[in-house]
Amino acid sequence: MSGPAPRVPLLDVNRDNQPLRDEFVEALTAVVDSGRFLFGPDVTELENEIASYCQVENAVGCASGSDALLLALMALDLQPGDEVIVPSFTFFASVSCITRLGATPIFADICPDTFNIDPECIAAAITPNTKAIIPVHLFGQCAQIDRICQIANQHDIAVIEDAAQAIGAAYHSRPAGSWGAAGCFSFYPTKNLGAMGDAGMLTSRDAAMADRMRLIAGHGMRPRYYHQVVGINSRIDTFQAAVLRVKLRHLDDAITARTTIANRYMNLLEEAGLVGPDQIVLPTQDPNAFHVWNQFGIRIGEGRRDAMREFMGERGVGSEIYYPVPMHKQQCYEYLKIDGSTLPETERASQEILNLPIFPTLTETEQRQVVDTISSYYQSGARVAA
Ligand SMILES: *Cc1c(COP(=O)(O)O)cnc(C)c1O
Repeated sequence: MSGPAPRVPLLDVNRDNQPLRDEFVEALTAVVDSGRFLFGPDVTELENEIASYCQVENAVGCASGSDALLLALMALDLQPGDEVIVPSFTFFASVSCITRLGATPIFADICPDTFNIDPECIAAAITPNTKAIIPVHLFGQCAQIDRICQIANQHDIAVIEDAAQAIGAAYHSRPAGSWGAAGCFSFYPTKNLGAMGDAGMLTSRDAAMADRMRLIAGHGMRPRYYHQVVGINSRIDTFQAAVLRVKLRHLDDAITARTTIANRYMNLLEEAGLVGPDQIVLPTQDPNAFHVWNQFGIRIGEGRRDAMREFMGERGVGSEIYYPVPMHKQQCYEYLKIDGSTLPETERASQEILNLPIFPTLTETEQRQVVDTISSYYQSGARVAA
């Protein structure tokens, strides 16, 4: 070996954006010249394009994925005392939307193979107070949304899909965000369809639901200065919509690139002899799911995850832990007094998961560096142990 190994970033947004630079400049210049920075034509066009992409009739732009979730629950008129079933192994926003409205999150455990919420745990958690279920399509793969909707229908409970990481994903060929009462999307820059700032979108097959979410996103105001309900101010601005329309044209190519990268990781890790219960457990693909690979999460057992991450970091290889602290263990949720004994897979996943670099322009050379670094970690570990 000679010289320091080059750095492999967890994510390189600039590299991904560079080929589209001229398209962005053109689209953004048109917004500057239009002077319509909110409610510009790009916003309506983006809503139509996202609705069509997700095969639903309605889409409503909003300020973020977090707001999309909050707006969906506000449209259901969620009240204190209501319960919402949600995974604890998720990003905070899947849960804060519930508690911000004074309602109670009921945490369901996850399936150990996909990291997604376990439908049987949902069924077991239903009570007369259950008002909604928020399945999260984690890392770009749909939860078992057919089964979840079936359970919800039996009990007349609404399903709100947290599809923040899953635009373009599908289950039984039906898109994420088209199954529940509403689908919630985030265009945070690291998502598969990333803006150059914050933005979000709601989808719904139900025109009345979509209309109510739009009303609430606009201060509950209709007509102007007459407020029907107490809403919030949550808009997608025209600049972000213009950027997103450019990126949406290239989204399927980006998903194809991510799929190639994910498959290559699996082959390289396998070839390197690193896959096995005492080493690395690869991510599992549900045969019914079309995975869009927002994240590539592997399991590192035997308490070695943190040491491996440090080893990789010292050698310039990026990685991340999504998510190190499940929601039921967050300080702000101590008041819920959840001991975690019913969430064993959630707690194990938070200790074992490691997310490797994945973005459309990540090269094969970089992927080999990632795998070589993991390989040398195990070799050095073996030496220490011997
Ligand atoms: C990113 C994300 C959100 C929140 O989206 P923002 O646009 O950042 O507010 C919600 N849920 C999940 C699962 C996410 O990954």
